[in-house]
Amino acid sequence: MARPVKKSNRPCDDPRLDYKDLETLSKYLTPQGQIHARRRTGYCSKCQRELKQAIKRARHMGLLPFVGS
Ligand SMILES: [Zn+2]
Repeated sequence: MARPVKKSNRPCDDPRLDYKDLETLSKYLTPQGQIHARRRTGYCSKCQRELKQAIKRARHMGLLPFVGS
C-alpha cells in the first residue's frame, strides 16, 4: 500500500526556482543526483518543469553533478 503523499511541504506558490539556489534544488534531488518524481516533490507539472530547468541549468554551470553515466 502506498502512503498518501503530503503536498503541504511543497507548495506551488513558492518563490520561483533559482539555479543558484543549490540548497533548495538539492532538496529535490536524490542522493544520486536525480530529480524526484512529481508526486514526490508535490509540484504541478508546470513547476516541476521549472525545477527541471533550474537543475539542468545548475548542472551546466557545474553547480550540480550530472547523473549516471
Ligand atoms: Zn505549480
